[in-house]
Amino acid sequence: MLIVQKYGGTSVGNIDRIRAVAERVVKRREERHGIVIVVSAMAGETDRFIDIAGELTGKPNERDMDMLLSSGEIVSASLLSIAINSMGYNAIALTGMQAGIITNTSHTKAKIEDIRAGRVKEAVDSGYIPVIAGFQGITEDFSDITTLGRGGSDLTAVAIASFLKADICEIYTDVDGVYTTDPGIVDKARKLEKISYDEMLELASLGAKVLQARSVEFAKKYEVPIVVRSSFNYSPGTLVVKEDSDMEKVVVSGVACDKNQAKITIRDVPDRPGIAAGLFQSVASNNIVVDMIVQNISSDGKFTDISFTVPKTDAKSALNITKQITGELGAGEATVLEDIAKISIVGVGMRTHSGVAAKMFKTLSDNSINIMMISTSEIKISCIISLKYTELAVRVLHDIFELEKE
Ligand code: ADP
Ligand code: ASP
Ligand code: MG
Repeated sequence: MLIVQKYGGTSVGNIDRIRAVAERVVKRREERHGIVIVVSAMAGETDRFIDIAGELTGKPNERDMDMLLSSGEIVSASLLSIAINSMGYNAIALTGMQAGIITNTSHTKAKIEDIRAGRVKEAVDSGYIPVIAGFQGITEDFSDITTLGRGGSDLTAVAIASFLKADICEIYTDVDGVYTTDPGIVDKARKLEKISYDEMLELASLGAKVLQARSVEFAKKYEVPIVVRSSFNYSPGTLVVKEDSDMEKVVVSGVACDKNQAKITIRDVPDRPGIAAGLFQSVASNNIVVDMIVQNISSDGKFTDISFTVPKTDAKSALNITKQITGELGAGEATVLEDIAKISIVGVGMRTHSGVAAKMFKTLSDNSINIMMISTSEIKISCIISLKYTELAVRVLHDIFELEKE
């Protein structure tokens, strides 16, 4: 068997943890499997680098940031390789560039354009255990280091697994699988034996950080089988696989929350064709991704209100752009609200069951939680609520849809 294993930040968080991971790897190697390792930076390192850069300037250069952040994964890959080598096995530490992760030039959120992992394959074929620094790549002309967005080591692992046609991509983290919701919020959260790519993609995109959303998208596209497991025990974990007929029987599979959104509201926007187009074109041309949008009906036919959400990190620039446009349009005041959260329920069974949205809204209202915005897709319903009710909302929704039960 050929296995790609990815170890997250907590799993390689200190020297004892690195040694423990090296022992796990070696044990697996003893079973005569080909093994490729991908690692994250040691827990907290990426955030620490971001904070240090932030002390120097409010807006660090993104190319410089990628160079800085990529160093975290280089350290952990080197240390793990040293640990494995010291146990008498052959490991070889590789940077993203050496592993052939070729990306576009979008610093801090680069997309993988090509995987030229011939060197990784050769190393495996000659009995080595490659230990690859996750989260990083190199531009096509080999001139600049890039990073793949937060949580991007998951994507490195899936990409390498797809290139090598590995039998499985094992994602090792600090929980022993994908749960019905964040087990850090709800004690009763239940570990899922398996979940479909589509549901996992929605959960990840809606805030469940156990897997990076882009890694799930990639895995779905290239049908890379993933298992999420704990590096602290040997429990079997959760399989992320293609949907099967059983899965539709379950209406709601999981609840997710995202506290990284901000809401911008513009009052008294002239109600005529082209206004929304102009506004959102400007926001998009500044590389800000808008998520939810709500436009009220105007009672007098002349003015309306528009609200939309953006990532919190983009809130300031989105507000500035919006203010500029409202000035040009003669619209009213633009304001930003940062104390919000997006709470979502996800399940492929929603395609075939009715009344799910009504149940969600009633449960929130029974708990005096006001819904500011709503958006739906075939397999998810999301609501924007006040930040302070996030945990309560997750708990009551988890209860009402009986997610603790099999
Ligand atoms: P790593 O550093 O290993 O990549 P992350 O912190 O990125 O780990 O992801 C693991 C965390 O994801 C868990 O500690 C858990 O709090 C959180 N999480 C959020 N939603 C879920 C979920 N539905 N199932 C499991 N974990 C979840
Ligand atoms: N170290 C990076 C981060 O913290 C990438 C990763 O952990 O996957 O986002
Ligand atoms: Mg992660």
